[in-house]
Amino acid sequence: MSPVRPAFIAGNWKMNGALAANAALLEKLRTGLSLAREAAEIAVFPPFPYLDQASRLLAGTAILLGAQDLSDHADGAHTGEVSARMLAEFGCRYVLVGHSERRALRGETDEEVARKFGAARAAGLIPVLCLGETLAERQAGATLDVVFRQLDAVIAAHGISSLRDAVLAYEPVWAIGTGQTAAPEAAEAVHLALRQRLASQDAAAETPRIVYGGSVKADNAARLFAQPNIDGALVGGAALYADDFLAICQAVDP
Ligand code: PEP
Repeated sequence: MSPVRPAFIAGNWKMNGALAANAALLEKLRTGLSLAREAAEIAVFPPFPYLDQASRLLAGTAILLGAQDLSDHADGAHTGEVSARMLAEFGCRYVLVGHSERRALRGETDEEVARKFGAARAAGLIPVLCLGETLAERQAGATLDVVFRQLDAVIAAHGISSLRDAVLAYEPVWAIGTGQTAAPEAAEAVHLALRQRLASQDAAAETPRIVYGGSVKADNAARLFAQPNIDGALVGGAALYADDFLAICQAVDP
């Protein structure tokens, strides 16, 4: 973890939650995080219908709010879609863009992800751009080709400067929800390669945070965070359990 980039820990609830369970989880996070005075910036990403509840329950705390997806359109005849402006109105600071589940299950292309990235920026949201290779791509030695292709689609659409204060989330698809975390050194190698690619195009691009996602748990977080280019975590399953999520947050060195 770098001393200059503030750590970022994001809890992606995916399609989980219920009013009573959310209230209990958020109350435990409020209490646990205010006691611990975290070194990290912490955000939760509930499903759309619970954003209002989470926004109200997190008011006055340091825990930030994010959404899991957004439309690439600003408004209009797009039934079922949710715009960046709507997310901002409900207190979101962040939004996930290009999560591998949306790329794989909803067929989101690199170009669509790039449009969503632009829609987020236009509404003042900070995009968390998810990048990652499948197991087959990794076995074929194509990890960097894949993550660079996904990154370059955003650079081509919006320019390198659009990434300066965004967040990148390197999430190897084979590690998501499987319990198979990437070895910290292997994840670090990808983070370093991404950072070098950004820096080669824009010296000022040293600053984006690059967080790791893929079966981050309380017992592996500290080893991941010890890597110099891993700036935090995008946490799925463990974010649904207050004790586990708090332990991951506390694995960040103050
Ligand atoms: C995710 O949903 O982005 C994720 C990394 O999930 P998990 O931590 O469960 O692997």
